[in-house]
Amino acid sequence: MPFGLLNRVSVRLSLWYTAFFALSTTTVLVLMYFLVAQELERKEIEVIQSRAKEYASLLRTTSYPEFKRRVLAENDPASEKSFFVSVVSPFEVVDYMVVPQDFGSLRLEGRVQRFLQQTDITRVPKDAQKDFALVSVQLPNGGSMIVGRSMSNRGTLWQPFRRTVIPAGVAVVLLSLVAGALFAHRAMLPVRQIVATARSIIQTGKLDARVPARQSDDELDEMVRLFNTMLDKNESLIRAMRESLDNVAHDLRTPLTRLRATAEVALQNTSVSSEAQEALADCVEESERVMSILSTLMDITEAEAGMMKLRRERIDLCQLLREVIELYEYVAEERKVGVRGDFLEPCEVSVDPNRVRQVFANLLDNAIKYTPEGGRVTVTTRNEPGQVVVLFRDTGIGIPPEEQDKIWARLYRGDKSRSQRGLGLGLSLVKAVVEAHDGKATVTSKPGEGAEFAVVLPKVAGEVPATAVPEEHTQTREAE
Ligand code: ADP
Repeated sequence: MPFGLLNRVSVRLSLWYTAFFALSTTTVLVLMYFLVAQELERKEIEVIQSRAKEYASLLRTTSYPEFKRRVLAENDPASEKSFFVSVVSPFEVVDYMVVPQDFGSLRLEGRVQRFLQQTDITRVPKDAQKDFALVSVQLPNGGSMIVGRSMSNRGTLWQPFRRTVIPAGVAVVLLSLVAGALFAHRAMLPVRQIVATARSIIQTGKLDARVPARQSDDELDEMVRLFNTMLDKNESLIRAMRESLDNVAHDLRTPLTRLRATAEVALQNTSVSSEAQEALADCVEESERVMSILSTLMDITEAEAGMMKLRRERIDLCQLLREVIELYEYVAEERKVGVRGDFLEPCEVSVDPNRVRQVFANLLDNAIKYTPEGGRVTVTTRNEPGQVVVLFRDTGIGIPPEEQDKIWARLYRGDKSRSQRGLGLGLSLVKAVVEAHDGKATVTSKPGEGAEFAVVLPKVAGEVPATAVPEEHTQTREAE
């Protein structure tokens, strides 16, 4: 059985259930076997005892020849159920009346003494199948009457037992395995639904996914209800946080615009000292920076809400990429990172060129920023039916697996990236803009070996690509 299967609680539960069931069934069967064997034996001994008593009283009430005639008439040595009957005189002379055929050559001389002293039941083993049971009864003259019969031992009972009870037991155990698997599978359903819901929220970022409600009123139902309530709370918290962030961004824009305008006017005043001019220039620069952050935040909100206005044009994506690479040539040179564009054919798509330029600029900026000196960044495109795939591959620090889902969230910055400039908004904008174009943005990366960001864009507006993520990227994590 593959290890993956054993890792499932439902499989482990049903195996435990079956093992427990098999063990208890075997115990019951073994117990049953011994009880039945014991009971059969007791019954057989009882029959011999009563026959011995009967013959003893017959001997008392009738003559010896008559007794012998009756005994011989009742017991045909050839018959399987005939009794062994022998009378021992007080002088230990043994008179065998009947020795059934299956007693073979059993003679009691050697054992008579011991046997008479015991005056009870003696078992003489014959073979694997049979035992002899002998019962002795004291006679009034001091002698004794010995009556016996061959009995089936446990080995004989074992044969029919093995033929019927064991197959039935195996069938019951198999049935319990199937039933156990079904019950465990059913019992684990809510857990599987919780896992699927959590996974869908992590992978798609859609916070409205919920576990289907169940009708039963048990602990699992309670767990599902609590899980859904927790998701409701999380969703409203995140929405409230986003809304306040959007409101703050919105409210800050106007005073900032005014601040920059005032600083610009003051800068034009030539009578101000050079220090004051420098300070005013810094003000203008910083307020522009903050305004660009605010407008990025608002762009993300707009795109996520499906309200981003896209001015679509039919353009060649490769041309756009060449322009973006050219724009970053200087930065790359400064950081000693080689940037190469590999475009074999034109890729015509219908997109908003300014927005898509923003996307590519962010991805290229990150690739250069997170690649140490001497590294390489390669940008390639691939024409696929109905869609174009653009890949940004770098040889930089890479992204640990546990961060690959989180990097798309607003304001998220990787642990190892804090030394670099940035606010954690670039990839949120990438994702929002690409999705506003009905595309997909994904990442694959091995820490220390670099990262590869893929942007998939449909060629025609409104046409959702059949496979948003290309075949060779099936391992990639979808953007949050
Ligand atoms: P930032 O301003 O921090 O670059 P982004 O939203 O652009 O914000 O990226 C989020 C995080 O994703 C980064 O802080 C970094 O940890 C990680 N990241 C993005 N691109 C790359 C890359 N090419 N290589 C390694 N890490 C990257």
